[in-house]
Order: sequence, then C-alpha cells, then structure tokens
Amino acid sequence: MLGCELNSKKFEISIYEGNQTLGRKFLVAGDGGLNLTHSENVINFIERYTPSSFLQRSFKHFSNVDLIKWINNLGIETFVGTSGRVFPKKGIKPAEVLNIILKKINSNSVNIYTKHVWKGFSNGHLLFENNGQAIEIKADHIIFCLGGASWPVTGSKGDWTNYFLEKNIKIDPFKASNCAFKINWEKELEKKIEGKILKNISINCGNKTQLGEVTLTKFGIEGSGIYPLSPQIRAQLTKNGKAEISIDLKPSLSPEKIIQKLSSGKKNITDTLKTELNLSLQQVQLLKTFVSKEDFLAIDKLADHLKNFKLTLVNTAPINEAISTIGGICLDEIGENFELKKLPDHFTIGEMLDYDAPTGGYLLQSCFSMAKYLADYLDTKN
Ligand SMILES: Cc1cc2nc3c(=O)[nH]c(=O)nc-3n(C[C@H](O)[C@H](O)[C@H](O)COP(=O)(O)OP(=O)(O)OC[C@H]3O[C@@H](n4cnc5c(N)ncnc54)[C@H](O)[C@@H]3O)c2cc1C
Repeated sequence: MLGCELNSKKFEISIYEGNQTLGRKFLVAGDGGLNLTHSENVINFIERYTPSSFLQRSFKHFSNVDLIKWINNLGIETFVGTSGRVFPKKGIKPAEVLNIILKKINSNSVNIYTKHVWKGFSNGHLLFENNGQAIEIKADHIIFCLGGASWPVTGSKGDWTNYFLEKNIKIDPFKASNCAFKINWEKELEKKIEGKILKNISINCGNKTQLGEVTLTKFGIEGSGIYPLSPQIRAQLTKNGKAEISIDLKPSLSPEKIIQKLSSGKKNITDTLKTELNLSLQQVQLLKTFVSKEDFLAIDKLADHLKNFKLTLVNTAPINEAISTIGGICLDEIGENFELKKLPDHFTIGEMLDYDAPTGGYLLQSCFSMAKYLADYLDTKN
C-alpha cells in the first residue's frame, strides 16, 4: 500500500525486503481464501480492534469501504461471503492480486531491493545485509513494516526487537493470537472427536460472546468461533494458567424451549437430543463425556449444560502456527501519525505494533489503513 500510494513525485521511494520476493505472508494469508476485509458497518468495525483508539484516525481516513473501492479500481472484483467477509471474486487467485499490486508499485517508480535484511542502526544509518555484505542506507523518512512473528517461514520472524530495545523503545513479547487452543482431552474422547466441527454455536469467555463454528482437534479447539476470543482467553491463561470457555450449543433456543423439547421426546434422551434438538453425534458424545450421568438424565440440568457447556483451555498453539501475533512495539512509543516518539522521522505500522485483531479481514484492513494514512500524511507534511 505504501509502495502504491506514497507520492513518487515528491519522494524517491525504496522498499527493502529480506526475502527474495515481496508479499509472502500475503500469499500465505490467501491459502484458505484471501479475506481482504470485512463488510460490517464502520462504527462496529473499529470496535473489533484491541485497543481500537490508535487506529481510529487511519481507519476513518481509509475504511473498509475505501479499501474495497481501491481494490476494485485496480481491476480486482470482490464479493461479500455469507459471513460478511470480503474476498476477491471467485477464480481470482491471491498470486494474481499480489501481481496487480506489484504492478501498481512498479508504475509508481518505486525501487525494490530484495534479499536485503535489516540488521539495525549504525551511526544514523540503517544497516542491511545483502548476500553477506553489509550496506548502510540513509533516508529522510523511514517506515518499518516488518510484520509480527507468526509463520516465520514467510520472513516475518520478529527478530528485529533488539534493534529497537537498544534505542530504549519498549517491546512487548510476542504471543500467539487467532490460534488454536489446547485442551487436555481424555484419550478415548480425542479419537472420537478429532476433526469434528461444531456449527452454529456461541462461545463466551470473560465479557465476550462470539457466534461461529469451531473444529475439535487432537490439540484442542480452533476456528472462527474461538479466534475472536483470543484476547480474553490469553488474559485468563496469563492470570490463572488456564482459561474457561462456555459453549452454547443451541444459541437460537431459550432454556425454556430446550426443556420443552427435551420433555416432548418419546424416545431416550440421546435420541431426543438428536431428533428434537438436531444435535450431532459429536455434540452428544461431548455432553456424555463431560456431564455426569445424573445431570444427563435430569432435563433441566441437561438444558443448562446445553446452554452453558464448559471447557478448560490450558495453552495457546505455538506462535509459529498462529495466524497473527500480539506484542512488538508498544503503542505508547508512537504518536498519532505512527512516528516513533524517540526516533523522529521513523515510523512503524502493521502487525509489528502491539495490537490485536480477529480474523475476518480485520488484520489486512488495519495494515492497509495505516499505510494509506501514512502515505497521505507524509505527502501533506512535506
Ligand atoms: C495462515 C495465515 C492466514 C492469514 N489470513 C488472513 C486473512 O485471510 N485476512 C487477513 O486480514 N489477515 C490474514 N492473515 C494476517 C495477515 O497476513 C497479516 O496480519 C499481515 O500480512 C501483516 O502485514 P504486515 O505488512 O504488518 O507484515 P507482513 O505481511 O508479515 O510483512 C512483513 C515483511 O517484512 C519482512 N521482514 C521482516 N523482518 C525483516 C528484516 N529484518 N529485514 C527485511 N525484511 C524483513 C518480511 O519478510 C515480510 O515480507 C493471515 C496470516 C496467516 C499467517
């Protein structure tokens, strides 16, 4: 976005990238469908970020509506999926989207230096390593967008933290976000539930409830129904070493309606759960494992478990496997224009800042918004 939108009539622009090619994480993000942004209304949108205040200006300047227009203007058609997520039109591959963006960067006369790994500061210069050689670069304005620390194979390794610490810039340690969470399943249950999907459920953790679906895995639980609860789960894991989630297996039905349906069944409880409440075999197996026989046979208690099914999470997945990370440059180190307070004319944007966003296109949107805002800010300032 910076390569596309910085004013090349005013600035000589150069991108330095450690990898041989640009945008590797962008391509990985596209593996399961390139979710560019979300279509929800602008007011709710900003509330998805933790914290949200640092992003308010840039999101107001370049919102999800603006991003969709920008992408469409590049010739990439988009569509809104059933969950409100925005994707390139079916048939357009992530690599095509990246190539179109790279073409736009080229048409903006940007110099691209790949295989240049940033190695820190040296006497007011930036130090890079290229093919074993040290190179020093001086620039009037420097924008760091080095990413977080998940999926390090993409080049976003988070190995730059010491360079900022040397400048007394505070760094929060990286932690996994939008990731699977570990559950110590009983061995017998693990085999039965592995790979099974719980659809149309809602999950509560702390003060937040999320509708969606999750996949049960050998490791634990993952999916769109749990990722947005990452901040609440992480907070409990940090405080207590474990986190408790409560699953509503029938969010569309009140407890009274569930009791009514369970009472109306002429068959045994297991069959009634399947026929009257459309519970899947896996849901019934979960209930039977975690609920005492006594509770399972008492309709009001069973209804309570259906609405309030508790699972204990004991860890996050490793950072390497997470979709994103929190941690990195502390937000109080930057001013409202993303300029580092302790290093004037040095800016930091994107996932290297310490904020959280759920999946659903919110991560890419925030990076695009910050970059567009900064490109326009530097244009008007200079
Ligand atoms: C599996 C997966 C799926 C995802 N799916 C989605 C999705 O569908 N929608 C969504 O919104 N988000 C998604 N994301 C998240 C999204 O891809 C990231 O949040 C986003 O790419 C972050 O952008 P960034 O520019 O801050 O950093 P990155 O995209 O990580 O880019 C940072 C760049 O800096 C380079 N770099 C790092 N250190 C150095 C150094 N020392 N010297 C030189 N170069 C360096 C890296 O090589 C990299 O190219 C997904 C992420 C993953 C891992």
